[in-house]
Amino acid sequence: MLTSKLEVLVDFGPKVDTETLNKTLSELKAQEGIKEAVYKDGAILVETCLPSSQVLELVTSKSGKRAVLQGFGETQSAVAMISSQSCCKSQVMGVIRFQQTPEGPLVADGSIDGLTAGSHGVHVHDTGDLSQGCKSIGDHYNPCGAPHGGPSDPKGSRHAGDLGNIVADENGRATFRIVDNVLKVWDIIGRSVAVTEGRDDLGRGYSPTSKIDGDSGTPVACGIIARSAGIFQNPKRICACDGVVVWDEKDRPLAGKGRRVEDKPKRCCQQEHTEHVKPCCRV
Ligand SMILES: [Zn+2]
Repeated sequence: MLTSKLEVLVDFGPKVDTETLNKTLSELKAQEGIKEAVYKDGAILVETCLPSSQVLELVTSKSGKRAVLQGFGETQSAVAMISSQSCCKSQVMGVIRFQQTPEGPLVADGSIDGLTAGSHGVHVHDTGDLSQGCKSIGDHYNPCGAPHGGPSDPKGSRHAGDLGNIVADENGRATFRIVDNVLKVWDIIGRSVAVTEGRDDLGRGYSPTSKIDGDSGTPVACGIIARSAGIFQNPKRICACDGVVVWDEKDRPLAGKGRRVEDKPKRCCQQEHTEHVKPCCRV
């Protein structure tokens, strides 16, 4: 199995409870899809072929503690925060992580919420231009001038950006781990990734758009692909100058209303008077 290494930060507090830690590690190792689980430098390192969101749920349930993904992949990694931008009626949000495995294939790991139940196409697009939301990200990334296809098609018979379909459950959540033999992380940083409203027919349909976009409809959410930290490359514990620490961050939206809790003293403003509020604390 092609595994990925995930660095999972667990909220053990100031002192690690060894008994809980050892129990968590042995239970994780007994789990199908998990090859190894060790504690290293304050985090649990999991080698797995499961989607990262499933690993986080497992760590949380086995340890009884909060857990966040701190690093993903040993070599080059990238991440895209996916949202419906301003163009769409529905509120779709999620994250897709890309990892270049030492073995060669790329792993696209993600979870996306707010989708309609069923299949949705996922594609890397040519540009990272979000000036008009998902409308300005260009066509599917296609350096070889190939027709639209599916992820199992060879390099010359598909767009490089064709990652096939993800499936959302009845709650609108899609959790996935796609292994792809064509795309490389270094080719897609700065481009964007989008999820479409409908199913991608992988270029095998009869509709005129089948060979263009798999008749999958318009993107309902998209985001720019940016370089990200691999395992043990991210020493950060505080997420931004708004003073939100990783444990607060876990339950907050990425931006906007709800990012900061206004009825509590702000961490970075605690010793400040309101007239001298630091710029980062302004609402
Ligand atoms: Zn395509």
